[in-house]
Amino acid sequence: EAKLSSAGSCLVYSSMLAERTRQRMQISQGLHRAIAKGELSLRLQPIVNPTNGHIVAAELLLRWHPATGEVPPAVFIPIAEATGTIIGIGDWVFAQACEIEARWRQRWGDAAPAYLAVNLSPRQLNKSSIDGDFAAMIERSGARPERLQLEVTETALMADVEANLSVLRRLAALGMPIAVDDFGTGYSSLAQLTRMPVSVLKVDRAFVASLDQQPENRAVVHAIVSLGRALGLTLVAEGVETPAQLDEMLTQGCSLAQGYLFYRPMELDAFDRAIEQQLCERSTRA
Ligand code: C2E
Ligand code: MG
Ligand code: MG
Ligand code: MG
Repeated sequence: EAKLSSAGSCLVYSSMLAERTRQRMQISQGLHRAIAKGELSLRLQPIVNPTNGHIVAAELLLRWHPATGEVPPAVFIPIAEATGTIIGIGDWVFAQACEIEARWRQRWGDAAPAYLAVNLSPRQLNKSSIDGDFAAMIERSGARPERLQLEVTETALMADVEANLSVLRRLAALGMPIAVDDFGTGYSSLAQLTRMPVSVLKVDRAFVASLDQQPENRAVVHAIVSLGRALGLTLVAEGVETPAQLDEMLTQGCSLAQGYLFYRPMELDAFDRAIEQQLCERSTRA
C-alpha cells in the first residue's frame, strides 16, 4: 500500500514538473516577442521623503501582459534572465528610462523628481558593451545620467565581485549613481561593499516587514542602517506598509521610503498627475 501511494505521488510530482517546464517554455517563447508585440509596459513607484510625504524620486518597474493575461515580474524576470532575453528587454527599459527622465526635465525643470531608479539584471552587467550602449542612449535622449540611478541586487553584486566592480565603475563613471537593491539578504562582506562605487542602500522589504513580527530583527536592521550611514550612503526603506514600520525605519536612520503606505506602483500618467498636484500644493502654500 505504501509502495502504491509513493508511486502515486511520484506520478503527481513528475506531471507537476512537466507542467512547470511547459509553462517556462511558453513564457520564454512569449517573452522573445514581447517587445515587438508591444506587450511590455512600465509603472512608476514613488520614493518619498517620509517626514513630509513628498515624492522625491521613483523606481521604474516592468510589467508584461501577453494576450493570455498579465504575468508578474517575479515569474517572468528569472526566466528572462535564464534565457538571456533580459538583455534586450533591459535595453528597452533603459531607453524608456532615458526618455522619461528627459521628459521630466522638459516639463518641470529643477522641480522634477531627483532621480529615476532602474533595475539592472546580472546578465546585463555581463555584457561588455553595456556602458557604451547606455552612454549612447543617454546621449540620444538628452537625459541627465546623474538622475538615472541603477539598482543592482546585493546577491547579484556579490556573486562576482571582481567582474561587477569593473563594469559598475565604468557605469558610475558615466555619472549614474548605483544603488544596492534588496540589501540585507545577500551576505555582503563589509570589505567588498566599501570597494563598490555605491551611493544608496535599499533595505530589503523582508527586514522592514519583519519589524512587526520579529522584534529581534530590529537589531539586524539597526546594524544594516548603521553600516550604510557609516559609509556615507543614502538609505531607502523598501516595502513600507504600516506607520509602525515607517516610525521604526525613521528612528533607525533611513532618509527615504518606498511602499504601499505611500503609493503603489502607478501608470506613468498617474505619476505625472501626482507630481503636478504636489507642485500645485507647494506653490499655493508658498
Ligand atoms: P524590486 O526592485 O525590489 O522592486 C520592488 C518590488 O516591491 C516591486 O514589485 C514593488 O511593486 C514591490 N513593492 C513596493 N512596495 C511594496 C509594499 O509596500 N509591499 C509589498 N508587498 N510589495 C511592495 P514588482 O514590481 O513585482 O517587481 C518585483 C521585482 O522584479 C523587482 O524587485 C525587481 O527585482 C524585478 N524587476 C522589476 N522591473 C524590472 C526591470 O525592469 N528589470 C529587471 N532586471 N528587474 C525588474
Ligand atoms: Mg528595485
Ligand atoms: Mg528592492
Ligand atoms: Mg525586492
